Amino acid sequence: MRTELIQRMQELRDLAALVELAQWDQDTYMPKKGAEGRGAALGTLKSLYHQRLVDPYLGDWLDAADAQGFDEEAMVRVLRRERAQATRVPERLVRALAEAGTAGLSAWKRARDEQRVATFAPALEAIVRLRREYADALGSGTERYDALLDVYEPGMRSARLAPVFAELQTVLVPLVQAIEARPPPVDVFGGKVWADAAQWAFTMELLPAVGFDLDAGRQDRSVHPFSSGQSVGDVRLTTRVSLDTPLPAIFGTLHEAGHGLFEQGFAPKDFRTVLAQSPSLGLHESQSRLWENVVGRSLPFWKHHLPRLRRHFPSELAGVDAETFWKAVNRVQRTFIRVEADEVTYNLHVILRFEIERALLRGDLDVKDVEAAWNDKTKVLLGLTVQRPTDGVLQDVHWAWGDFGYFPTYTLGNLYGASLFSAAQRALPSLWADVERGDCGVLLRWLRASVHHAGYRWSTEALMERVTGRGLVVEDFASYVRQKYSVLYRL
Ligand code: ZN
Repeated sequence: MRTELIQRMQELRDLAALVELAQWDQDTYMPKKGAEGRGAALGTLKSLYHQRLVDPYLGDWLDAADAQGFDEEAMVRVLRRERAQATRVPERLVRALAEAGTAGLSAWKRARDEQRVATFAPALEAIVRLRREYADALGSGTERYDALLDVYEPGMRSARLAPVFAELQTVLVPLVQAIEARPPPVDVFGGKVWADAAQWAFTMELLPAVGFDLDAGRQDRSVHPFSSGQSVGDVRLTTRVSLDTPLPAIFGTLHEAGHGLFEQGFAPKDFRTVLAQSPSLGLHESQSRLWENVVGRSLPFWKHHLPRLRRHFPSELAGVDAETFWKAVNRVQRTFIRVEADEVTYNLHVILRFEIERALLRGDLDVKDVEAAWNDKTKVLLGLTVQRPTDGVLQDVHWAWGDFGYFPTYTLGNLYGASLFSAAQRALPSLWADVERGDCGVLLRWLRASVHHAGYRWSTEALMERVTGRGLVVEDFASYVRQKYSVLYRL
């Protein structure tokens, strides 16, 4: 590969790292009055990035790339894909989408205040129209929604996803019904005040306990937790603390740590290359969900960590044993709101959004009928009757700022995470015993070797096939939730 091409790739990675850093600062420590200056600086950085990417020279170098070996071929493939996306969408459309997103956000806020979907409908209509245009410009896949999915989940297609989600629905709906018929677990969190400093201290103990390297990253606070990686040596996580319950801090930290472990785990030799990335959002999410839910909400994990949490909350947790705590953190409950949902019902919220988004993009559903469709699907999937739009179609901000095709990656994360964990269990017979001893290193080393080091060398499904022997399947997640919740709820 010629030097110019390598240098350009490194430049792009450096610029991307600075964008990440500036955004992290914006969401954590930037003073309120810094917004204008930061907006301008970020705008300049992003446009520099864009110019360097669409630069015709880069196109020539990629066409003439004399890639040597598998890694270089992968780099060329990833760069070509990114460049094609950036060049196919006309600048006029990029600007129109940004403006529609700003207008959408303010209409959405007004609609929420008024509890009136019609207030948001014209803005949503404009966004859907622009997203159709955008999908046509990208042109990947056989139907419009494919192109939007492909942005977040390269290679994923609607026709591949629809039967997977349909199968998942047939597993989850009866499972949730069976769980709802059983008595709920004892609530060990309500009616107490959970001190901020103690929660923070515990989350800072959890990070190294799962293998997150605090010399190569840090944790701070933000309203909406997120993770951001500049390089394997600098990965930023955030969490949020609620005084009513320690759950958002504990599981928010574990979730973001899962993302962070992936970022810290890219192969050092891939530094400043496009290979030091996840091949998709779904695979990235598989790591967060694996640590948050499969490991973090397991009994062995809490057998080890509850005594440590109790040191911070001796009176709040007096008389609570590991099993009671484990049951309490795995409460399944039908709720209207996706972000409050547990790991079983969560995917039903995603299926609902996928079906509506796909129908909107296909033109099978009009914006004026979205509220009715939402409410009908909520009834079918969750058995709930929506009373007000903020509990229904107006709950998520994604559509307001113009994001379509993103939601499925959350469920893909759950499915991939369960499949990876089951492969890990086959490879590591002592896995749960290790976790119970407080040793997560065995699992982390396996994930490093099989997933993290691979970076963006393979597509997600190809990587899954290499690691688990199969691509995207429902079965592993289905048996994981069935087994776990049969024990929890004595089904
Ligand atoms: Zn996540």
